[in-house]
Amino acid sequence: MTETFKTIARIQYSSEAQIIKGRLEAEGIEVFLSDNLTIDTDPLVSNAIGGVKLKVLSHQSEDAKEILESIRKYSMDDEGNSISCPNCHNEKIELFSTIKDAKSLIWFIFGVLFSGLPFYTRHKYRCETCQTEFDLK
Ligand SMILES: [Zn+2]
Repeated sequence: MTETFKTIARIQYSSEAQIIKGRLEAEGIEVFLSDNLTIDTDPLVSNAIGGVKLKVLSHQSEDAKEILESIRKYSMDDEGNSISCPNCHNEKIELFSTIKDAKSLIWFIFGVLFSGLPFYTRHKYRCETCQTEFDLK
């Protein structure tokens, strides 16, 4: 019996990919990451090779996509509470990485080295309804 794989997402940073992998595995989906070792060695390579590829078994790909979608659609805080927009209180909040270019990546690395910033401070949240961007306090 041969199993085939499907790439369901490309993620720029392997730490993010690891978190998403954990969420999918908690739902019983087998997840395979590729290129994450290369990216760990040199994060700047990530863009060039298209990020970490998140692969799942073909027959689980539909389920995996659904879970992925629910993770992306409704962000939650560390306690698992859903996050609502400080402006319009809508709960359709999108999580996005604040690291968009090499410059912000360098600032992020400084942050990690000198103040031990935890993972989530790299992220901002954006309301899908009114486009307000905010941080969690
Ligand atoms: Zn809003």
